[in-house]
Amino acid sequence: MAAMKCGRCGSEKIMTDLRIRDRYDAGVGQDLEVEVQANPDALIFKQAHREALRATVCGECGNVGLSVENPQALWKIYIQEENS
Ligand SMILES: [Zn+2]
Repeated sequence: MAAMKCGRCGSEKIMTDLRIRDRYDAGVGQDLEVEVQANPDALIFKQAHREALRATVCGECGNVGLSVENPQALWKIYIQEENS
């Protein structure tokens, strides 16, 4: 894979696939996630699908890019909702 460059400053100090942690009072953490609901109007069975967010951070200027681990899975659910 070719070296990535920061879209803002052009640096190659790019840290990829970093986890984004949310921390509770007890010190317990959880990865931030993106959620798509296949059936948002349902009371119970919304068929939510979540994928963890991952960050790409520039070690020079702090520019941050976000992506999800498994976008195809989210897309599948998203399309189901549109077609229902
Ligand atoms: Zn940068």
